[in-house]
Amino acid sequence: MSETLSHWINGQAVAGQSGRMGDVFNPAIGEKIAEVPFAGTDEVAKAVAAASAAAPEWAATPPIRRARMIFKFKELIEARIDEFARIVTREHGKVLSDAAGSITRGVEVLEFACGIPHLLKGEFSESVGTGVDSYSMRQPLGVVAGITPFNFPAMVPMWMFPISLACGNTFILKPSEKDPSAAIFMAEVMKDAGCPDGVFNVIHGDKVAVDAILEHPDIAAVSFVGSTPIAEYIYTTGCAHGKRVQALGGAKNHAIVLPDADLDMTSDALVSAAYGSAGERCMAVSVAVTVGDAAGDALIESLRPRIEQIKVGPGTDGESEMGPLVSQVHLDKVRGYIDHGVGEGAELVMDGRGLTLQGYENGYYIGPCLFDRATPEMKIYKDEIFGPVLSVVRAPDYDAAVKMVNDHEFGNGVAIFTRDGDAARDFAARAEIGMVGVNVPIPVPVAYHSFGGWKRSLFGDHNMHGMEGVRFNTKLKTITARWPTGIRSGVDLSFPLMG
Ligand code: NAD
Repeated sequence: MSETLSHWINGQAVAGQSGRMGDVFNPAIGEKIAEVPFAGTDEVAKAVAAASAAAPEWAATPPIRRARMIFKFKELIEARIDEFARIVTREHGKVLSDAAGSITRGVEVLEFACGIPHLLKGEFSESVGTGVDSYSMRQPLGVVAGITPFNFPAMVPMWMFPISLACGNTFILKPSEKDPSAAIFMAEVMKDAGCPDGVFNVIHGDKVAVDAILEHPDIAAVSFVGSTPIAEYIYTTGCAHGKRVQALGGAKNHAIVLPDADLDMTSDALVSAAYGSAGERCMAVSVAVTVGDAAGDALIESLRPRIEQIKVGPGTDGESEMGPLVSQVHLDKVRGYIDHGVGEGAELVMDGRGLTLQGYENGYYIGPCLFDRATPEMKIYKDEIFGPVLSVVRAPDYDAAVKMVNDHEFGNGVAIFTRDGDAARDFAARAEIGMVGVNVPIPVPVAYHSFGGWKRSLFGDHNMHGMEGVRFNTKLKTITARWPTGIRSGVDLSFPLMG
């Protein structure tokens, strides 16, 4: 018997009422392990009503007390991190150490959010005019919703709700229907941390729930992370309904390898960044652009033995370095891309399609794949594959490599590998990409900086977490105050000047 999950509304588990359910699988064994309710419009409305009712008191709670609740939540999450990682691995498939690492990255956002009394401090100018002072404050928006992808069921929600709650908003999380249990775990821990009922809610579901969120008049803002077509839809639909929206989309992250790069360091970095989490990371490196043919040959020869040693297996096995993909549908899609790449003429240097694991024959496994001589015209170059597939593209020179990066529709992350400071500095300035690494393959900004791509990797004006998160989750208000000084200027209809 598989488990039936619930929504979390107003501080308690609430069974689904729409009659629509989705299946949740354990990708390591390819078996259904749970059913998740898909909310209808009425259920979303109930969560919004609970979040709206809780909003005034939460907004009026002093920031230091909101921070204390978040600090308590952080302590409880840290104390249960192994259990939490197992929940993530069971539904996502990634290896336990990777799951725990991603939770730790989320915990860092909690730590940042604990500084909210400081982060919300406004500006003050004394005497902007005679007897006139001016000051600013950041106030909460009201009810904020977060819609999150399958690949980081703990970390991506934690990019959003800690800062939103710390800023004084109440929150509704709509996690991925593929791995929904992490959200409920966080809701339960939130309650243990003393979160008032209605302040943090979880609604499960698909497009019906998402559309109900986008159209609900009492939701002020939506944070989204997922694929680009859905991100664009969320942004346009949410904005059309008067909401503030930040919608982070897909990626095709390049790594440029210059001939002077440290080959061992670069190869270690590329293999880690391409195959970690089976490539199901929005910051995974999926294209290596070598400059010059000799650099291409050397890189392939250096990557090959490293890739051969990767241990693929169930995420709960301490020996495994790479787990299965999230679903059968996704496995078929990734395999389809490999077939397509071969068909369009890329050289398949390492082929993971034949992998089978004894005892786990029904799991969604594929071994690491490596293409050489891919070109920008190929589908395997243009599309986000989101699997353990690295394509080497050979560029004739540095400028051609930079052009390739800048011409691609996505602009999430990029890295350059070189010992040349001039080249690295030039590249950092010229790359039309939101997050740039210099000899760092996955340049994910830390919690107190902000995460976000350019081009079709982000729709909206705000990145996630750091000060951008605070700005997204608050409205700025500026107060100009005059106090009677005894000086009367009389009635004056001319343009108001302060000085
Ligand atoms: P997805 O776009 O399929 O789903 C994301 C969310 O949108 C889920 O909650 C899902 O239920 C919902 N959704 C799906 N289809 C919808 C529809 N038609 N209408 C309304 N809502 C819908 O993404 P995914 O497969 O869960 O996640 C992988 C994608 O997320 C990749 O493209 C990856 O690059 C991207 N991602 C981006 C970042 C980033 O920071 N830019 C981070 C993580 C993942």
